Amino acid sequence: MREITHFIDGASVAGTSGRYGDVFNPNTGEVQARVALATAAEVGAAVGSAVRAQQTWALVNPQRRARVMFEFKRLIERDMDALAEILSSEHGKVIADSKGDIQRGVEVIEFACGIPHLLKGEYTEGAGPGIDVYSMRQPLGVAAGITPFNFPGMIPMWMFGIAIATGNSFILKPSEKDPTLPVKLAELMMEAGAPKGVLNVVHGDKVAVDAILDHPDIKAVSFVGSSDIAQYIYSRGTANGKRVQAMGGAKNHGIVLPDADLDQVVKDLSGAAFGSAGERCMALPVVVPVGKQTADALRERMLSEMQSLRVGVSTDAAAHYGPVVSQAHRQKISDYIQAGVDEGAELVVDGRGFSLQGYEKGFFIGPSLFDGVKKGMRTYNEEIFGPVLQIVRAETFEEAIDLPSSHQYGNGVAIYTRNGRAAREFAARVNVGMVGINVPIPVPVAYHTFGGWKRSAFGDTNQHGMEGVKFYTKVKTITARWPEGAVEDSAFVIPTMG
Ligand code: NAD
Repeated sequence: MREITHFIDGASVAGTSGRYGDVFNPNTGEVQARVALATAAEVGAAVGSAVRAQQTWALVNPQRRARVMFEFKRLIERDMDALAEILSSEHGKVIADSKGDIQRGVEVIEFACGIPHLLKGEYTEGAGPGIDVYSMRQPLGVAAGITPFNFPGMIPMWMFGIAIATGNSFILKPSEKDPTLPVKLAELMMEAGAPKGVLNVVHGDKVAVDAILDHPDIKAVSFVGSSDIAQYIYSRGTANGKRVQAMGGAKNHGIVLPDADLDQVVKDLSGAAFGSAGERCMALPVVVPVGKQTADALRERMLSEMQSLRVGVSTDAAAHYGPVVSQAHRQKISDYIQAGVDEGAELVVDGRGFSLQGYEKGFFIGPSLFDGVKKGMRTYNEEIFGPVLQIVRAETFEEAIDLPSSHQYGNGVAIYTRNGRAAREFAARVNVGMVGINVPIPVPVAYHTFGGWKRSAFGDTNQHGMEGVKFYTKVKTITARWPEGAVEDSAFVIPTMG
């Protein structure tokens, strides 16, 4: 069986723990490879390599570091088809979504190409008599990233793109469910000219994660995954004196006011609720129509839209979405659907019985639609992370603001309306980190920053954009005065007689 190895100090390194994780092909349900799960010693070896590499990498001038980023982007684009195929084969998302996943990561690399400009410090001339003050941003040293299965291209690049460009070295602990693409990215980073040890990949589970959280030479940890784990990472990492940003789960709402363009809403929901089988932290699994008329019209149109959704294997170019990542995850989604039924919500479309001919063992699940979902139900409170859309009816605008604002998660939210004042007020008041106005998945572009509120993020620095540059650097401020009579002045002393 194919074995997916660690990537340490510029080379593939077989695991020594004797522990492995299964990597499935979600289309067929078969195990296609096994991934080594690291010991603390293997994490230590990666950190040792990263410490050595960082000392010289930090001295490489920013423009040269940027050139590595330019080349890395070129190499990814060269290999895009092959990389997307690898991603799809382990994750299950369709090829177009895999390319999108990688492309969104490349956009952060493009941002990192501007690092010479982004790292420029500040300077105050004459802050006091003969005194100048200036500040500079210096790398932290070794940073680490722990990433989820659902964006194995984009999320690692959110992190290591900026960490490396700012002069750090990086240890990536990707999801053990789809670990091949992250290793390919590390290989391409070496091919692009980054010295060995600047980017290491260590596979693993809690053992590897705890080793990262406890290692004194790792100065910062960036995490993206589910909220309970995010909170754990944040607590343990900060208790060990590290800088930590930990993004968690989500339950994003789409508010639909009576004046919204319903055709647009239905088209957007079909992509945002069911695309990538709902396995996106910026998916839109809850729709909140305001008023009975809006709700009834939306439900009817959504029903007919759902009939045109095609579920297929990840290589099917006509498929809307593919299988979910694992059998356990499919079961979890089914359990949440049952919980909704048990709690009294109306299951309008039930995707649980879906099976794809010829791929009966694949992890497929059809799209589901609930109506009459209410605040307080477990199926509403918790993240399902599957192709399930829930209609939560609201009577008023106030109720529609309250639903996402009082929810435990606060990643993204969208509002559909033609009324600028209503949209403006909603955006200002809603207690959520990223807001879309007639935009279903408001993932900010790379030069802005990504981050939710409440249980969707722990720590106070967002991913990428200037927040990313700040996360991976520390500021040093210098206050300088040059006394008269210093050595440099001697050339200007006028000689006297005697
Ligand atoms: P997960 O929390 O199960 O795993 C994330 C990472 O944590 C993986 O690398 C995994 O190996 C590690 N991990 C798992 N259990 C651990 C434990 N007990 N101790 C230490 N480490 C552990 O998440 P997932 O299922 O891979 O990804 C889906 C989740 O990620 C969803 O909740 C989704 O909303 C969230 N997500 C959030 C964002 C965001 O930016 N807010 C983006 C993408 C995904």
